[in-house]
Amino acid sequence: MFARLATRSSARQSLRTLPAQARGYASAAEVGGPSFELTEEQAGIRELTRNFTANEIIPVAAKYDRSMEYPWEVIKKAHAEGLVNVHVPEEYGGAGLSVMSSSIVSEELAYGCSGIQTAIEANGLASAPVILAGNDAQKRKYLGRLTEEPLMCAYGVSEPGAGSDVASIKTRATKEGDKYVLNGSKCWITNGAVANWYFVLAKTDPEGKPSRALSGFIVDADTPGISVESKLINMGQRCSDTRIINFDNVVVPKENLLGKEGDGFKIAMGAFDITRPLVASGAVGLAQRALAEAAKYAHDRKTFGVPIINHQAIGTMLAEMAIGVECSRNAVWRASLAKDHSDPRTTYLASIAKAYASQIAVSNADKCVQIFGGAGYNTEYPAEKLFRDSKIYQLYEGTTQIQNLIISRVVAQDYA
Ligand SMILES: Cc1cc2nc3c(=O)[nH]c(=O)nc-3n(C[C@H](O)[C@H](O)[C@H](O)COP(=O)(O)OP(=O)(O)OC[C@H]3O[C@@H](n4cnc5c(N)ncnc54)[C@H](O)[C@@H]3O)c2cc1C
Repeated sequence: MFARLATRSSARQSLRTLPAQARGYASAAEVGGPSFELTEEQAGIRELTRNFTANEIIPVAAKYDRSMEYPWEVIKKAHAEGLVNVHVPEEYGGAGLSVMSSSIVSEELAYGCSGIQTAIEANGLASAPVILAGNDAQKRKYLGRLTEEPLMCAYGVSEPGAGSDVASIKTRATKEGDKYVLNGSKCWITNGAVANWYFVLAKTDPEGKPSRALSGFIVDADTPGISVESKLINMGQRCSDTRIINFDNVVVPKENLLGKEGDGFKIAMGAFDITRPLVASGAVGLAQRALAEAAKYAHDRKTFGVPIINHQAIGTMLAEMAIGVECSRNAVWRASLAKDHSDPRTTYLASIAKAYASQIAVSNADKCVQIFGGAGYNTEYPAEKLFRDSKIYQLYEGTTQIQNLIISRVVAQDYA
């Protein structure tokens, strides 16, 4: 898979400068800067993904947003290019990309449509606990399956009564001989109706310490007793599939327990060190798109005899948007590299990246609507979709308040 990415990207080297110009930013190498240099391989991955986004996502994004249909056709093509499951290790058929390289892929996909990117990214979120805590047989079976054909999976942690407060989930896994029986409901599950398997967090020791009361399971989606409710209609990212999933006496073999009983909370939270930088990079992609659309429109639209980009008030908004994009990308790359180098401050840096990049996505989408004027409020133009799509970044994978809680605990410790 990884070889395929590398080969294809080097075959398309002549296109390298064109998409960079179209996108309005250049790598450090292109501007002669010394830092945050992408390796040749990463530049190739970016180019491959950028071309995929330009050809396969941007032309159909508005259609999927309107129909709210799951973007299967796009996902199948992305899978064929090796752009799904990118951080699954090579030995299980994945591209084995670092978090840093994966964040480049996420940003480029989200530039085209963050709803499609979320659908793809949900595989990354659900497979992260298996990568972290699965044994070889579990990885071979469940990660291998994802890489062989375009199958989706889903991360089932949140419940109707518990989102931020993960330890208070109610789904119960009761051990009966060599199996567990699951009962409960999961809510807001991305890829809920299309998943081939779920990562499910459930209580195995209701009387135990909150941090040791939970266990993580891999659950095949076709297991009897699982029912999926109708699609939840969300404000944005409307082609992404979000569902409530019910578990009614669902029998799971003990071989599908991840790690040991009681490891669940640690596993579910550990996944975020990988996935928060990737969600944050999606937010950067959206923020970059908002800047690009706003700048193009500001060149075209004239008021008082000049293009509106010549009005200082518009220029200031565009400058603030550019500052936000550059700084949030730096925060994402910093967090991604921290994870790749096992930096003990990874969780803190991932929370900073997630909180900041999502704030910039929302603020850039808002400014984009403002620069479009009345057209910004209309579905014929791209700004309103960006506006609706942006808000979720401050909510899923830990709200901004939860990121701030994580960050403030470290600050309190640092300055105690
Ligand atoms: C489109 C979408 C897709 C999602 N996909 C998935 C998925 O695939 N898998 C999954 O498991 N979950 C998923 N989620 C769930 C998501 O992670 C939760 O919605 C999120 O964690 C917030 O939980 P909640 O909605 O229960 O809000 P609550 O936890 O009820 O929070 C409500 C408000 O209180 C604030 N708050 C809560 N606790 C504190 C505190 N201690 N200090 C300060 N403020 C606090 C929150 O920030 C928020 O503003 C998804 C959600 C959405 C909307």
